[in-house]
Amino acid sequence: MPQSTPAVRRPKHAKRNSNAPEELLRQIPAVDQILRQTAWVQLLERFPHGAVVEVLRSQLTRMRQQARLGKLDREAFGRALEALPESTRLLLEKQFLPSLKKVINATGVILHTNLGRAPLGKAALERIHEVATSYSNLEFDLERNERGRRDVHAARLLTRLLPAEAALVVNNNAAAVWLALNSLAEGGEVIVSRGELVEIGGSFRIPEIMRKSGAVLREVGTTNRTRVSDYARAINKNTRLILRVHRSNFRVVGFTEQPPLQELVRLAHKKKLRVLEDLGSGCLVDLKSSGLSEEPTVEESLKAGVDVVTFSGDKLLGGPQSGIILGRRKLIEPLRANPIYRALRVDKLTLAALEATLLAYLRKDERETLPILKMIFAPANEIRLRSERFVEKAQNALPYNSGISFQIIEGKSVMGGGSTPGESLPTFLISVRAASYSAGNLEKHFRTQLIPILVRVEHNQVLIDLRTVFPTEEDHLLNHLVLLLNS
Ligand SMILES: *Cc1c(COP(=O)(O)O)cnc(C)c1O
Repeated sequence: MPQSTPAVRRPKHAKRNSNAPEELLRQIPAVDQILRQTAWVQLLERFPHGAVVEVLRSQLTRMRQQARLGKLDREAFGRALEALPESTRLLLEKQFLPSLKKVINATGVILHTNLGRAPLGKAALERIHEVATSYSNLEFDLERNERGRRDVHAARLLTRLLPAEAALVVNNNAAAVWLALNSLAEGGEVIVSRGELVEIGGSFRIPEIMRKSGAVLREVGTTNRTRVSDYARAINKNTRLILRVHRSNFRVVGFTEQPPLQELVRLAHKKKLRVLEDLGSGCLVDLKSSGLSEEPTVEESLKAGVDVVTFSGDKLLGGPQSGIILGRRKLIEPLRANPIYRALRVDKLTLAALEATLLAYLRKDERETLPILKMIFAPANEIRLRSERFVEKAQNALPYNSGISFQIIEGKSVMGGGSTPGESLPTFLISVRAASYSAGNLEKHFRTQLIPILVRVEHNQVLIDLRTVFPTEEDHLLNHLVLLLNS
């Protein structure tokens, strides 16, 4: 039965020093006694017994430590004891919330690697939902009434979209590169230019992936210049592949040289070798009209004669995390037959989302339906208009003398996520300055909301780039801004 006994017991001997640690510690009721009180009974209805006890015990331990150190006087101790049900509830609620959650990206970094890269389009979500919540023909050939292969679904669309005979999908591009190297060059040599020995995101480094694939790296040329003749000289009877790696996240400028893909292909084919290209981003559309000029497309690579290309599904393609491998059937087959392929293959949810993403390209409505491309192709003027409307609404919602100043300034959005290094898109930024908050405080406040809002901070102002904010998120952003600045 719930009891509403007071949390703090009356000290029995009034003469004792009631602030003495041992006296305070004596006031703590036994755990099972605490749990019989009404507030705790309610908590036990919502959370598992073990979790409630664990959180309660850890809080009591902390209180005991503080009391022993003399950090709590009798009053503070009593208050802490009384606040226990509420503080326990908050801690438990946090424990039972997922820690992976939505954030609002107001930074203007479109493919933010730390923020999950490409957000999926609506169609991808619907496909995931349907395939995830029912049975599917993942590995069943409905026409022949026999066991089928999971990779046919995406491969059918990829080979229609792009000039390649065969396709394979694995967990990410790192897996794709490893699988290609291991299947096509294990025990042999792979020639790579010294200007392309890249590191992506801390752990993907070409020399290390190469070593783990069992292929031997043969570096040629220099950091800034590599010629076809450098590759030609390195070819020997152990050579299996020439590898080209897209410089996804850096640029080499100045006195530079890199042979055109066609020339590398010509050399390789003359010597009966294959060219493997790690394209990184896997762009399927021409980005030039958006203002980004350096990103090669998958089609260009295949048309140049590259035998196998690999790229990420969640970079410029705008789909789910995956690694896509395209090429001649004869070269893709060994990858599929590799026993490790089983460990690298994707699940049905990824395939469902990938199919929906590829269908957008086939229907040619990718710029209207894939969030990544919508953001890239949004004209700066459109962002200026959205920003102006946003600021107007914010000013209307704030008191006249709020001490907040808004300004709309020109700025740059960047691709991020290992693509179009050094390039940017013109945008407009909302600059927010508050008389009573530093920009750092504002930034932290936004970041620690239930739905965290990530902004840029520059020159003691908060900068918001609406390019990467979904229009449906604008009201939420606005409400938070007004709530905070009004408080
Ligand atoms: C991003 C990238 C990778 C790694 O791709 P993931 O999909 O993150 O595994 C490998 N190579 C290049 C050139 C890249 O840009």
